[in-house]
Amino acid sequence: MQVEKKEKLYEGKGKKLYKTSDENLLLAEFKDDLTAFNAQKRGNEEGKGALNCKISSEIFKLLETKGIRTHYKETLADNLMLCQFVEIIPIEVVVRNIATGSLTKRLGIKEGEKLPFTLVEFYYKDDSLSDPLINDEHALILNCVKSVEVLEYLRKIAREVNEILREFFDSRDLMLVDFKLEFGLNKEKEILVADEITPDSCRFWDKNTKEKLDKDRFREDLGNVKMAYEEILKRILLSL
Ligand code: UDP
Repeated sequence: MQVEKKEKLYEGKGKKLYKTSDENLLLAEFKDDLTAFNAQKRGNEEGKGALNCKISSEIFKLLETKGIRTHYKETLADNLMLCQFVEIIPIEVVVRNIATGSLTKRLGIKEGEKLPFTLVEFYYKDDSLSDPLINDEHALILNCVKSVEVLEYLRKIAREVNEILREFFDSRDLMLVDFKLEFGLNKEKEILVADEITPDSCRFWDKNTKEKLDKDRFREDLGNVKMAYEEILKRILLSL
């Protein structure tokens, strides 16, 4: 598809977003930067942007084949993804299969414990507030969505995405521990899975060794960050 890159719309922690010659499309340029703990910790890993672009492209394509609507259109270059222009719903939808991270810290659930059922949580996307955990009523008061039905829809899609990805990664000997989704509304006001699905936004553990193969390697200074992302891409591309 021929589109022209226009002015920068937004620069986030992992991506720069550009307008294009088509008002319904935007370009996401994946960056090599790494941030953690609300950007208090910063780093850079050459090639990470391209790996994340490829990983996210493959995951969006997989979801589309399973009937999940996403903003993904096409991968135009190593670190360049063409997407539908969406208005992002300011909620981070976190899906958890296994307890770790903030869940263990907040509630004292043992690290690595399999949850009795898949937990879906909403966080309010606001860096100045450090993305607080919110409930449905908070989301309505904050005008994140128009109705509780939309929240129920986000939860339903998040659970469907979890089932698809959990099975996919399980067949590649990876545990999908938890992940974060974002959603957006396109011009037709359809709700699409947006942003990215990468080892920056998901936790993956090797099924056999329990080795962490995601951004926790950066968060916890475990080293070999890029190797872990390469390993995730390699397993995604395995033809089984
Ligand atoms: N996550 C994310 N962006 C955020 C917060 C969390 O992508 O701003 C992802 C994170 O990578 C993990 C899941 O959401 O896969 C749950 O993260 P958690 O709440 O445990 O937060 P953390 O421990 O990263 O502070």
